[in-house]
Amino acid sequence: AAKQAGRGTFRVFDEATDTHLQSRQKMKAALRAALGLGELSVFYQPLIGLRDGQVTACEALMRWHRKGAGWITPDQFIPLAEEAGLIGDMGDWVLHEACAQAARWPDSVSVAVNLSPLQFHGGALVDQVASALRASGLPPERLQLEITESVLLDPTDRNIGVLQDLRALGAKIVMDDFGTGYSSLGYLRSFPFDKIKVDRSFIRDLPDAREALAILKAVAGLGRSLDMRTTVEGVETQAQLDCAIAEGVDEAQGYFFSRPLPAPGIASFISGCLPKRRIQPATGDAAT
Ligand code: C2E
Ligand code: MG
Ligand code: MG
Ligand code: MG
Repeated sequence: AAKQAGRGTFRVFDEATDTHLQSRQKMKAALRAALGLGELSVFYQPLIGLRDGQVTACEALMRWHRKGAGWITPDQFIPLAEEAGLIGDMGDWVLHEACAQAARWPDSVSVAVNLSPLQFHGGALVDQVASALRASGLPPERLQLEITESVLLDPTDRNIGVLQDLRALGAKIVMDDFGTGYSSLGYLRSFPFDKIKVDRSFIRDLPDAREALAILKAVAGLGRSLDMRTTVEGVETQAQLDCAIAEGVDEAQGYFFSRPLPAPGIASFISGCLPKRRIQPATGDAAT
């Protein structure tokens, strides 16, 4: 059909691109309004300690309930927020919101907040984190800040200084989506992370993929040698969980335990409704 259209093809393509751009512009405008309209919310997904099956932390994940469009996931709006210069305000809001919620959880449960590389520009981040801690009364060591490898791409090393300042406040620094960057191992030398979170793409192919299993084993070993805790994200099956346990990973997160939940849902999850699933590897009963 494209061939038959001949010269017209370009025009059709132009129109499509145009519509796409327009809808992005519209979406940015809607996003700009969303914060004021109360359309943004924070969901929380538990991380489970593999020693005892207890909730160790919950990750704050932003959601946008856009009028007339339903729930929109961060993969669709975070890039827009970054382009539109909104991520600073949105990130500040999430920090305050997440710390305020976490202050109501048991002392043993931390909260993990994702930071965009753009929040490291502009110089406001450290004050925002300090303010969120002060306003909520959350002990700083119960705040975990998740960054991706892209934060460390900055050739000036300025971001390393910011990470040191955040650490000095008492917060924990987590390397998120580990293994997806250009030089993952190199990044581990640039900052002493408190925790490494292995990217979901490695967990997805377990237990069958030899390569993914070898990488998981290596990262778990690295974590032990470097004194960094290890977490796996995206655990959906018992078999994937069993791999993580067998490799001595400290924590796991994924739909197998719980999807991200609104604040009231996570509060009741924490207070004892852990799913009645097997956390410990099978012992003796020759299962699997
Ligand atoms: P992330 O930080 O790697 O978060 C984990 C993502 O994996 C979440 O997607 C979570 O819902 C999803 N997930 C968890 N367990 C499973 C599972 O078992 N299976 C599958 N298929 N997915 C699972 P979500 O909430 O859509 O967030 C996507 C990304 O958006 C996050 O990836 C994070 O990079 C970013 N993001 C979310 N909230 C914020 C925020 O407040 N600020 C910033 N800067 N980024 C955020
Ligand atoms: Mg994360
Ligand atoms: Mg992640
Ligand atoms: Mg990820």
